[in-house]
Order: sequence, then C-alpha cells, then structure tokens
Amino acid sequence: MPSHNLAHIKIDDLEIIGYSVAGEETVVAMPQLDICFDIGKAPDQIISINNMLLTHGHMDHAAGFAYYLSQRNFCGIAPGTIYAPQNLLAPMREIIDAWGRLDGNKVPGNLVGVKAGEEYQIKPNLFVRVFPTKHGIDSVGYSVIEKRKKLKTEYSSLTGPQLVELKKQGIQIDYPLEVPIVTYIGDTQYVDFSQLNYIKESKILIAECTFYETDHTGRAEAGKHMHINEFAQLLDKLQNKHIIIAHTTQRTPMRQIQKILKESLSPEKYNRTTLLMANRQR
Ligand SMILES: [Zn+2]
Ligand SMILES: [Zn+2]
Repeated sequence: MPSHNLAHIKIDDLEIIGYSVAGEETVVAMPQLDICFDIGKAPDQIISINNMLLTHGHMDHAAGFAYYLSQRNFCGIAPGTIYAPQNLLAPMREIIDAWGRLDGNKVPGNLVGVKAGEEYQIKPNLFVRVFPTKHGIDSVGYSVIEKRKKLKTEYSSLTGPQLVELKKQGIQIDYPLEVPIVTYIGDTQYVDFSQLNYIKESKILIAECTFYETDHTGRAEAGKHMHINEFAQLLDKLQNKHIIIAHTTQRTPMRQIQKILKESLSPEKYNRTTLLMANRQR
C-alpha cells in the first residue's frame, strides 16, 4: 500500500499527482516532467522523481525533504536534486547533517539555491524559471518552460536538402520558441501574476486558493493566502487552458468549496478549473 492516497489528474500526456490541504500537507508531482513541486511528507509515489522544487520553508510543504533523500539512498537511486530559495539552503543542510548523525548514515543529495528571475535546466529542452511570490517568508513559484526551435515561415515550403544548404551558408532558418507548460504558484497572497507572460500563457496553472467563505477573508489576509474573490480576479487576467486549484482549507467542506467556486467564476473559467483534492480515488 502506498503511503498516500494522492489525487490524479491527466491533461493530454501529462499526469499530475498530489495532495494539498492548507496547513496539513502539500506535494504536487508531474512524473513525465520528472518534477515535483513542494514535497509535503514525501509520499512513496514521488521518491523516484529526480527534481524537487520547494517554494518555501513551511513545514507542511517541506517536511519530507530529508526523508526523500534518505529513501533514495536506501533504494539505491542516484541522489535527488532539491531546488529551494537560496536562504533555505543553510538550515536545510543543518537538518540533513543532523539526520546523518541520528541515523548513522550520511544523507546524499544535491541542493540548489534558486533566485527569482533565474532559470535552471532540468532536461536538454526543459527549463524551470523562478518568480517571486508574497507569503511573508522567502517564497518563490516555478514555471516549467520547454524551449524549441521553430522553422521561420518563409522557409516552410523548402525541402530538407534546401534547408541544409541554407544552413551551410550561415543563414538562420529557425528562431527560438518558448512554450510554458506548467506554472506552480505555491503559497502566496494576491499578486497580479498576469504581468509575467510565461505565467499568463502557461498551458497549465497550479495555484493556491485557500479560502472561500465570506468571513474567511481575514484569515486569507493573516496567513498571506488567496481568497476566492481575489483568485477570481486573478483568473480574469490569465489565459491558462487548464487551472488546478490546490491548498484548499480544511475549514470548508469540499462540496461547499465546489459550490462557491462555481458561483464565483465565469462559466468559461469554471470549465477550465479543477480542484486537486476533488480528484482522489475513493
Ligand atoms: Zn501552505
Ligand atoms: Zn506557507
């Protein structure tokens, strides 16, 4: 039996598996991209994924990182890579060292400190771009971007040998194309993320929307989270094809969240939206 009953969502050829409840645990993995956003308590199903992208140091998002590294070592898998905001690296190293002393075995792993505005290569064509979020402590979000080369339209009718000939002459026949596949926002208060085109146009958006009830606006403000009123406003400015909502509160039953969501979004946006935690196998 796996440790967690995770939610499953499939979008074209990409799977999204995860568990995300505010204050309890958040972990969202995309196995085909070999990426996991936040790590929660390190469910069994994500241990084999090579790249962990942590958004911030809150325990419900980051608790399992040392266990993840240790389990990989135990199972004979190469050390994993954990990306996290730069300032988290020193305390993370202390935790890993302390576990090494408690356990009697060194815990191997690669830690990469990330900065908003920078980009990190995951696979030959796959890059992770880091952007700032607003959550009261060091926090970031991540966009996964595929970089391709596209043939310029003026050459589209040419044959293979003709293109080779042009290339030989030093003519630039293609141009770089960026395709934002998925954006994971992590914990944040409202920010106008539509100002960043790669977020606005990301095919998939995975975002927190923690609170739904009218009298929970104060809670959203205090915890630096989004309330549905703000989230609806944000969605109006974004163009994502698929929207997955994570980090829902335990204070409101899922059925009520679904009802409020339907009332708060335009039918056009609502039809693109799914609640992560409503997609668990019973
Ligand atoms: Zn959280
Ligand atoms: Zn948090």
